[in-house]
Amino acid sequence: MSVTTDTRPLDVLTDFPAIPAGWAYLDTAATSQKPRPVLDAINRGYGETYATVHRGVYQRSADMTLAFEAARERVAQFIGGQPNETIFVRGATEGINLVAQCWAGTQLRPGDRILLSTLEHHSNIVPWQMVAEKVGAEIDVIPLTADHRIDLDAMAAMITPAHKLVALAHVSNVLGSVLDARRATEIAHSVGARILLDGCQAVPRLPVNVAEIGCDFYVFSGHKLYGPTGIGVLWGKAELLDAMPPYQGGGSMIDRVTFARTTYAPPPGRFEAGTPHIVGVLGLHAAMDYVEGIGLDRIHAHETALVTQAREALGQINSVRLFGPDDSAGIVSFAVEGVHPHDVATILDEGSVAIRAGHHCAQPLMDALGVPATARASFGVYNGADDIAALVKGIERVTRIFG
Ligand code: PMP
Repeated sequence: MSVTTDTRPLDVLTDFPAIPAGWAYLDTAATSQKPRPVLDAINRGYGETYATVHRGVYQRSADMTLAFEAARERVAQFIGGQPNETIFVRGATEGINLVAQCWAGTQLRPGDRILLSTLEHHSNIVPWQMVAEKVGAEIDVIPLTADHRIDLDAMAAMITPAHKLVALAHVSNVLGSVLDARRATEIAHSVGARILLDGCQAVPRLPVNVAEIGCDFYVFSGHKLYGPTGIGVLWGKAELLDAMPPYQGGGSMIDRVTFARTTYAPPPGRFEAGTPHIVGVLGLHAAMDYVEGIGLDRIHAHETALVTQAREALGQINSVRLFGPDDSAGIVSFAVEGVHPHDVATILDEGSVAIRAGHHCAQPLMDALGVPATARASFGVYNGADDIAALVKGIERVTRIFG
């Protein structure tokens, strides 16, 4: 079958110099391509405006410090938090490790429990395993519903006052399942547990407001939000951050250093030791402006429409098995019967369609789905129905080759 429309409703493809005509880039869940305003911000950052932040007394450095802190305010506004609650980290992985070490590592006691879900990314599993081992805590796992969402009824039934921390993906990187974040937060808070949301796949795809959700910590990575690699955000409630010890020691995170005793800066500086990724922060600012210029409601509607088209078209191919719910956010995982996902991806690549194949850093989810790997197509602002047509054509070729 073929998908006939060639619309790209957001009409932004020309903003992305790294996407040549005819290349269907369907791996935005791994990392997004960068629009020109982000590339320009990076160029300017390392170009005519470059200097360090927070230390220099000369004008260029003072200007850069203002730009750096303006980006922090932009991030806070983007997710509905406050600047002093907004910490720049290398990415979601570092943000989760920071909370695991500095909050869980100091708050949890032997016998306490941590609640995760079956569909978590390894970066929202392994840091909790490491801290659980250190403090003598246990991990419990929320199962999935039949349509592959985190089962919040099961969560409500299994959570106990021994659970001190819940950590869940806001949107699954494999299935696109969207968590009812407010309900999950209410359930966690009903027993006094804190909740961290992994917003890596949510922030580029949905409007997110941490104050409305009511969660305690929220993390995401800039490179999935059309921004640079090496920069991400940890947002945390002020009273929790205030009570947390530093993550790393070094310059910038101190109040006063003597050999007898060192005192630490208040958050966010306390958690930002060393020279930060200055230009990454500027690029992230530009990425947020870019995304909001399009509008997250529009982006969400656009990606939902692409998911619907893709699922309908792929669903008509007999040998294709779809995973995840029909209303998943911008991400479709599937398998072609009798063909390893790596072979699927290789054949698609021959037709200029780039998808991801593998376990997507979610091996426990693969075990639950009963597959070693999936093929995954994920969408961004630049994709259109022609990309889905190319994907479907590629899958039809796969089925012909493998009989
Ligand atoms: N969580 C989710 C849901 C993700 O999709 C990813 C990236 N694949 C991560 C965490 C880790 O992000 P990073 O590698 O940028 O730290």
